[in-house]
Amino acid sequence: MVQFIDTRTGDVTGLAFSDVIIKGIAASGGLYVLATLPTVSKQEIRELIPMTYAQRAAFVYKKLELDIDDETIDAIAQASYGDQFDDKRIACVKNIDKRTHVLELWHGPTSAFKDMALQCMPRFFSAALNKKRTAGEQSDDMLILVATSGDTGKAALQGFADRKGCRIAVLYPENGVSQIQRKQMVTQKGDNVAVYGVRGNFDDCQNTVKAVFNDKAFNERLHERKSLRLSSANSINFGRLMPQIVYYFSAVADLLASGELNEGEPLDICVPTGNFGNILGAFYAKRMGAPIGRLICASNENKILTDFISTGTYDISHRSFIKTPSPSMDILISSNLERLLFHLADGERVARWMGELDENKKFTVDKETFAAIRTLLSADYVTNEESLEALSRIWKEHRYLCDPHTAVAWEVGERLRTPGAPLLIVSTAHWAKFATDVLRALSDIPAGQPLTGAYATHTEFEQLDDIVALTRNVSPVPVGLANLSHARERFSSSIDAGASSLENVLEAL
Ligand SMILES: *Cc1c(COP(=O)(O)O)cnc(C)c1O
Repeated sequence: MVQFIDTRTGDVTGLAFSDVIIKGIAASGGLYVLATLPTVSKQEIRELIPMTYAQRAAFVYKKLELDIDDETIDAIAQASYGDQFDDKRIACVKNIDKRTHVLELWHGPTSAFKDMALQCMPRFFSAALNKKRTAGEQSDDMLILVATSGDTGKAALQGFADRKGCRIAVLYPENGVSQIQRKQMVTQKGDNVAVYGVRGNFDDCQNTVKAVFNDKAFNERLHERKSLRLSSANSINFGRLMPQIVYYFSAVADLLASGELNEGEPLDICVPTGNFGNILGAFYAKRMGAPIGRLICASNENKILTDFISTGTYDISHRSFIKTPSPSMDILISSNLERLLFHLADGERVARWMGELDENKKFTVDKETFAAIRTLLSADYVTNEESLEALSRIWKEHRYLCDPHTAVAWEVGERLRTPGAPLLIVSTAHWAKFATDVLRALSDIPAGQPLTGAYATHTEFEQLDDIVALTRNVSPVPVGLANLSHARERFSSSIDAGASSLENVLEAL
């Protein structure tokens, strides 16, 4: 069975997958990483070709030697990657030209790539809980607390809705999400879900959740009075990361099958990056044997990662949050970077760097680690303006309609690609989740400027129709989003930021 290491101690923890998925984060503050990575041979990659996506996922999970039996893994993979996706390939590779391909990760129920992990992770979470129950180690139900800037909240609600033994509460910044994102969350069905708007920004939401996790007295009350224990579903949970390895193997298999990728040829991959979870999946796939060349990290104006990869210094001391058309990448602390640093250095150094980040708001890696980073990764960023220009250009040149996050990756991918080598651009959201900025881009209105003419007074739902008309419905609005405007809103609570106001509403659950 596979072992997990704590990134800040470097020690093998003795924990199995089912412990790690429930705990989420280590007591040291570190993250759990696999002690060893299995190898997938060229022959095994070829064997993925005739498989369904669910079978490919089960194959990768079994390779990792989890403490979950094979039949349960098969059942989870089947249930996670089925009819709730609007394309039976699940993660579709679209060919733009002979050497340029787009990996569409938004065919799931909430139209963002978060579904790739959050359709699967809650099922593993339940299986892990079951195991603990059967062993008599746990009788409490779990309360999953999620702070979201938009996409994670809905995907987590959808994944955990009506899941036995679990409840979920989501906090979103009241004035920080799009109309469509808010509506997606407040219309969520299920008896075990709750959604709260927070009077504040995303950082306030995240700090509120952290403060509640750290409030020992509250955690004890929750356990004694309600038999509930807190857990989280954010992207530092290994259970979120694992499903993100699969689609890189799947894309390689599809490209080998179609002859777009030649045997032994490395594929460059460009990922629009925020918390570094998606691109870390590509790193793991590469280490496990997928023929992946450069990992290209694409940032928006919150370019902390681009600066780090260019200089070896991670510095948030003079930075503030910038609002961009790609809000799911608006981040200052990129949590999963810690895992990459561990794999390229060691626990002692990671603990020191993370300590420095806490204290001085910056750290610099040593020469050797920096060299390893430069060998593996390239990075660049695009301005708000450039991202909308790219979206518009991609539409005009290729008749491919993409969302602003994908446009960031596309632009950076074209700048940094290895000449002549195949490039996979990772597409992380359906365009319809970000209607206003897509409409700005298509009508050549600069980022941040108001829409003009009839568009100016349209709701986001009307803007969806505007975009469909402008683009002759090349890429239809997903059913789940089209039906939203009429869906009944179930949650209207708005709370102040801070532990006490959240604790009050949770105790009343
Ligand atoms: C979450 C998200 C990202 C960033 O992914 P990370 O794994 O945090 O790097 C990019 N695009 C979209 C649309 C997202 O929802």
